[in-house]
Amino acid sequence: MSTEANQSGTVYLIGAGPGDPGLLTVRGAELLRRVDAVVYDALANPALLDLAPDDAERIDVGKRAKDHKLPQKQINRWLAELALAGKNVARLKGGDPYVFGRGSEEAIYLHERGISVQVVPGITAGIAGPSYAGVPVTHRRIATTCTFITGHEDPTKTESQTDFAALAGLVKSGGTLCFYMGMGRLGAIAERLTAQGLDGATPAAVVQWGTMPNQRSMRSTLAAVADDAAQQGLGAPAIVVVGPVAGLDAQALGWFERLPLFGQTIAITRTRHQASDLRRELETLGAAVIEAPTIAIDPPDDWTPILDCVRESERYDWLVLTSANGVVALGEAMDKLSIDARHFGGVKLAAIGEATATALREQLGLRADLVPTDFVAESLAAELIAQHDIAGKRFLLLRADIARPVLNEKLTEAGAVVTDLPIYRTRLADGLPEALIEAMQARQVNWITFTSSSTARYFMKLLGDKREWMEQVRIASIGPITSQTVRELGLTVSIEAEHHDIVGLVEALVQGV
Ligand code: SAH
Repeated sequence: MSTEANQSGTVYLIGAGPGDPGLLTVRGAELLRRVDAVVYDALANPALLDLAPDDAERIDVGKRAKDHKLPQKQINRWLAELALAGKNVARLKGGDPYVFGRGSEEAIYLHERGISVQVVPGITAGIAGPSYAGVPVTHRRIATTCTFITGHEDPTKTESQTDFAALAGLVKSGGTLCFYMGMGRLGAIAERLTAQGLDGATPAAVVQWGTMPNQRSMRSTLAAVADDAAQQGLGAPAIVVVGPVAGLDAQALGWFERLPLFGQTIAITRTRHQASDLRRELETLGAAVIEAPTIAIDPPDDWTPILDCVRESERYDWLVLTSANGVVALGEAMDKLSIDARHFGGVKLAAIGEATATALREQLGLRADLVPTDFVAESLAAELIAQHDIAGKRFLLLRADIARPVLNEKLTEAGAVVTDLPIYRTRLADGLPEALIEAMQARQVNWITFTSSSTARYFMKLLGDKREWMEQVRIASIGPITSQTVRELGLTVSIEAEHHDIVGLVEALVQGV
């Protein structure tokens, strides 16, 4: 987003939603993709920052109740400075910016300085948290009002504004109370409601980290909720719901915590641009996913032989791609040669697996003529040999520098003329990501997935002398070859995918937990 010089930028107060990054609004995502700076809170999911342009400034002003990282005044000043410097700023706030979020204070401050502000509402935790815990905040017969209350009033106020008699009355006449920031004073809140004549048997529920993979929730009663929460170790951030809706059928409504992979933390070791499919599948099934790319992809040392072969692709009968990374590299080669899909009109295409075939179709507009039933090199070779008369035929194999030689060997044995070229280089990543190290150290990782032998080997290299961290972690392998490598590394494979692709791996995980 470019702004005229000496004209100030706009500040967008964007509700980040309750935690699950998928619960950001479309408008919020659209703006995040084109701002110059993002100023974000502790409760805004950091995954959302990935949406912002790489060169956007990212400023963490995260604050928790007791440990203010930055006073509000300073946040205001910061927002104003950025906007006055001509930057468009996303002010990303947890939940909704105007629900206990001080968004209005920021908006007024900025308006007074002539800075334009737009607000993008977000899904507030008081609705989303209960919802994900199986508690609808209203219900046609039993709850006709819903009240949001802060359990942690501005400490500088001398008298409480919270009218507990009125709140108790609301529940008695069929209403729902949603307390934010109430965990520190849960006992006092419950007592005051009971003192105002609310029945101790009134249903109450607590949901901590609502909509997140680490969500925990609990059903109780007003009389017991404080003790029960303490006993179960539930703390902030949490929403406390009081009212009949908290007693509705948890079996029927508690869909989230029943997802097949809910509560499982799964590390995935694919490269960044390969990880997204697997990540999405696993998260849809309720898992917490930590990406741990072990491999970095570099361009080939020398493009010349590759460009020569691709340019003369009509000299080949078959072009074989063995990975989605290879497809990306082929795309780069095509760009360098200024050619497009028409160039491959005369050559047949083989892809080692569905992911490679999809990449070919989606990224290059090319449809594979052959995808073997089993997504391994042996199977590709066998099907080529069985179904196509390959003796004397010319093959161009574009593969990773570390690919196994088996495909070349089998095709050559069967009389094909094979040109075998590494089209990209793989190397060890620079290190394991901080998020994974922390989770492994805390023994929070339940599963690690290996989708190739090299990722398994590289992962163990990156883990170095911290092998003991693997003790509680179960290993899910994509297929027999990867499993073999895992065993050679002295580790145990807990599950192996029957179908050697991402869908198969996910299926195996669901069955394996
Ligand atoms: N503007 C935010 C609320 C900020 S106040 C919104 O609209 O949601 C911070 C409080 O919100 C926390 O103390 C907690 O009570 C609640 N909260 C925020 N995220 C939550 C989550 N994922 N699960 C449960 N409560 C949450």
